[in-house]
Amino acid sequence: MVLDAQIKSQLNQYLELMEGDVVLKVSAGDDDVSKEMIGLTDELVSMSPRITVENAQLKRTPSFSVNRPGEETGITFAGVPLGHEFTSLVLALLQVSGRAPKADQSVIDQISKISGEFHFETYVSLSCHNCPDVVQALNLMSVLNPNITHTMIDGAAFKEEAESNNVMAVPSVYVNGEFFGGGRMTLEEIIGEIADGPDPDEFNNKDPYDVLVVGGGPAGASAAIYAARKGIRTGIVAERFGGQVLDTMSIENFISVKQTEGPKFVASLEEHVKDYNIDVMNLQRVSSIEKKDQFEVELDNGGVLKSKSVIVSTGARWRQLGVPGEEEFKNKGVAYCPHCDGPLFEGKDVAVIGGGNSGVEAAIDLAGIVNNVTVLEFGSELKADEVLQKRLNSLSNVTVHTNAQTTEITGSDNVEGLTYVDRETQEEKHVELDGVFVQIGLVPNTEWMDDSVEQSRIGEVVVDKHNATNIPGLFAAGDCTDSPNNQIIISMGDGANAALGSFDYLIRN
Ligand SMILES: Cc1cc2nc3c(=O)[nH]c(=O)nc-3n(C[C@H](O)[C@H](O)[C@H](O)COP(=O)(O)OP(=O)(O)OC[C@H]3O[C@@H](n4cnc5c(N)ncnc54)[C@H](O)[C@@H]3O)c2cc1C
Repeated sequence: MVLDAQIKSQLNQYLELMEGDVVLKVSAGDDDVSKEMIGLTDELVSMSPRITVENAQLKRTPSFSVNRPGEETGITFAGVPLGHEFTSLVLALLQVSGRAPKADQSVIDQISKISGEFHFETYVSLSCHNCPDVVQALNLMSVLNPNITHTMIDGAAFKEEAESNNVMAVPSVYVNGEFFGGGRMTLEEIIGEIADGPDPDEFNNKDPYDVLVVGGGPAGASAAIYAARKGIRTGIVAERFGGQVLDTMSIENFISVKQTEGPKFVASLEEHVKDYNIDVMNLQRVSSIEKKDQFEVELDNGGVLKSKSVIVSTGARWRQLGVPGEEEFKNKGVAYCPHCDGPLFEGKDVAVIGGGNSGVEAAIDLAGIVNNVTVLEFGSELKADEVLQKRLNSLSNVTVHTNAQTTEITGSDNVEGLTYVDRETQEEKHVELDGVFVQIGLVPNTEWMDDSVEQSRIGEVVVDKHNATNIPGLFAAGDCTDSPNNQIIISMGDGANAALGSFDYLIRN
């Protein structure tokens, strides 16, 4: 039995929702993974009269495709989709059976209209939290568009293949044999990459807003809800709705919610925003803002949105080291998200660059997975909280170097080492390792604004206690501002404050 009793009883309820017949085409050998896969498909057959199995010869063995009778959908699972991918299998069964997906009709229409052939392949690990969203998005696209196919590949079951493709981070997505992207991606982001974007006139023809929020993270979502609750015309334009929280695994400090996960948190943010009359324009990057008689906010695609007031909440992103090798080995050993990519370095040697809270937290986390962690801190001492430093010092497989300036990440196909200079002795040193996690803080996403908006030395927007900037009618909130602490709850408070500030500005002007 591959599935335990509790999962089987939950699965039974889902399988009852199937609306049509599904044929699993199974390509199996004599190996253990094939046996486990056959065990799974046989159990599915025994649980639903709508599911049947046929033997087939597919591109990979062991694998199976999920089809309608007489019609291939293009969805294939290579390996056994258990662990975090079990939900992907259940959704594939339901959607292939004809059950309507939980996606906006506009998104469904956009997928159906995509022209050209797209054969996606995604390497996953069954313990990866970010992988199922990508797998499920691509499976849905395969169900809705006959020119799109998708294969989920369990990297552990296809180790040699994953290694020959230099897969060092999951999910790693390939399309038509070429690398497409890595890390967490939403359905909208994937569509944005391959479908024609909206016409600039769609934006030019919109009526002016009272409040336009630029950025869709916690600060932007909160600002928009507060503004919309005043009954004024509100819009959000965001490059990636959800912001940094999409990359956060566990959240334990959002007061009143003991524990949640980033993507779950973003889903409820989105649901809350959609409860109001807010025009959400996702996957649109703003390139400039200018104050004329109203604010004119220009998008990368040339469209211009007009608004009486604007709240900038464009957040922040990982700061890069800027040394040779960093760009070259991204996704090939250079990583920024320990929660996401840590498991890929199991048993290997890695470095964490940065001895602040995020660096030390990352090192503690990684020490439980990898063979050895080397922490490199530029300053003369670690800057992390005392409690974290104590925990770090108690770990036997962590080595800390202070006064260490990383100068190069080296390797041939993947990361093989790191060079640093001991700033006390000026001696150059080299460490051989397989991965480098860069944890040196954040940079505000504000370079698209010109000098007329007052900013700090490192580009944070300077705000007053109403979250107002130096330009009347322009407010800012969250991680992009000079507020000293970057946290979800603080960003949301900022967003609320900025919205109330902008409402006050509107009624006075
Ligand atoms: C890995 C990780 C773990 C974290 N864990 C926690 C935690 O446990 N608890 C906690 O409280 N905080 C945590 N944080 C911090 C928290 O996520 C941030 O403080 C918070 O997300 C900031 O919200 P924000 O809305 O200001 O910015 P962001 O979340 O960065 O959102 C910015 C928004 O602006 C958009 N944007 C950027 N540039 C443009 C542009 N030019 N045009 C249009 N849109 C644009 C982005 O796409 C995004 O929608 C974590 C952060 C990370 C990275």
